[in-house]
Amino acid sequence: MFETNFKNEFVEIRGHKIGLNENKLIKIPIDRLPTGTLIEIPVYIFNGKEAGPTILLQGGLHGDEVNSVELIRRMLIDKSYKIQRGCVIVVPLLNVFGFLSLSRDMHGKDVNRSFPGSKRGSLASRMAYYLMKELVQNVDFGIDYHTGGEQRCNYPQVRYTAEDKNAKELATIFNAPYMFTSKLISKSFRNECYKHNVPILVFEGGESLRLDELSIKKGIQGTLNILRNFNMISKDVIIQKSDLSIEITKHKWIRAKIAGLFSTVIANGDKVKKGQTLGYIMDTYGETHFLVKAPYDGYIIAINNFPIINMGDAIFHIGT
Ligand SMILES: [Zn+2]
Repeated sequence: MFETNFKNEFVEIRGHKIGLNENKLIKIPIDRLPTGTLIEIPVYIFNGKEAGPTILLQGGLHGDEVNSVELIRRMLIDKSYKIQRGCVIVVPLLNVFGFLSLSRDMHGKDVNRSFPGSKRGSLASRMAYYLMKELVQNVDFGIDYHTGGEQRCNYPQVRYTAEDKNAKELATIFNAPYMFTSKLISKSFRNECYKHNVPILVFEGGESLRLDELSIKKGIQGTLNILRNFNMISKDVIIQKSDLSIEITKHKWIRAKIAGLFSTVIANGDKVKKGQTLGYIMDTYGETHFLVKAPYDGYIIAINNFPIINMGDAIFHIGT
């Protein structure tokens, strides 16, 4: 069992010490705009009465992945972080710049490919550096919330590092509709945390720049499952029950064989049978329909919602 020597007597961030039974909002200054405006990242710390695990809950590493920001915001409003044991460090929106410019990136660079970062690097690189130095050094594990890209809607799912047994255990506890291992990507946040022995779960739900109620709810539910498991929140908090997470062992995007107008006939998250019609690609000016069929039995774990498709575009992500 993952539960080992958690002993958060206090966490220290930017010189602020937050002891047991203390809550605090710290604003970490990151940069100034060319106009001189100071950009700060708000970080909430909720430390319980009793020592326990310290968890990082991080939204908006990609600035346009708004479901991550919304689910963390909603948990703040719902007072879900009434922590009795252990500590949560909550970052509602890491990439303020991407959020403002409706972009995944920070000044044209992906923070999630900028680790370990450096003190004097680009903004993305500095962000990565301070995230590791100020926050990750305090935590036992973390949840990094994401969404699919533009128009690519991920059915709520958790991805974890195969080499990390604790991450699999956390993924099982989170209990998203789907869970699967994901390779460590060089210079990514999860990869850097793995090197520091900090398991990271990546929750994915919905698509960028669109709020998706199911993804938000599943993200909150999974987070509460984690907090409950480590006895961090009261037993009175009601968590909606759901079916056990389906473990996906293989997954592949199905690509469009022709270009045209694309529409689906199944729903994201559906279980499908080999040969079943999943959608149509229609000749834009004519009557011809090209049927998109399931190449094998599986589960739809993501759908491309874009209606105008080019040959080779990824349209359905199917897991088995
Ligand atoms: Zn992302």
